[in-house]
Amino acid sequence: MSYFKFCPNCASQNIEFINHRRFECFDCGMVYFQNVAAAVAVIIEKDGKILFTVRNREPKMDMLDLPGGFTDPDETSEETCARELKEELNLDISPAHFKYFKSQPNDYLYKGIPYKTEDFVFTARLPENVNFNLEESEISEIRWIKKEEIHLNEIGFDSLRKAVADYLRS
Ligand SMILES: [Zn+2]
Repeated sequence: MSYFKFCPNCASQNIEFINHRRFECFDCGMVYFQNVAAAVAVIIEKDGKILFTVRNREPKMDMLDLPGGFTDPDETSEETCARELKEELNLDISPAHFKYFKSQPNDYLYKGIPYKTEDFVFTARLPENVNFNLEESEISEIRWIKKEEIHLNEIGFDSLRKAVADYLRS
């Protein structure tokens, strides 16, 4: 793994990135962990359909996604769910109303750098009187897809493909 060319501390090239996680400089001894990033995704079902978003940016542009995103520092996963659904869709759902479903590891390649994530998948109910307002930098449209008409290969991320497959079996 060589996406850093130099040590950020001493600029040595005598460096190694071990197991996608542990950066080490063999000259100055700097060690830096790029730990697994926590992320969330939310499955919302209504009338036999599941709410998908269509990604408006890389990675996986134009493919189906679930609403969600990366956890901020000092945030619970349920708070991430609430914040991301507000930002992406203008949905108001309290953190207490997200129900844990399962976790799934994922690879997230952003601008040439591979990140390892752990995606925590939750379910939630659609509130009454929703007024969708899409965050267009991230989402081009939403699609309600009947459960029997979901094509898993149209879902961009492996983790969410597996989570949706498990959800449909549950
Ligand atoms: Zn160094």
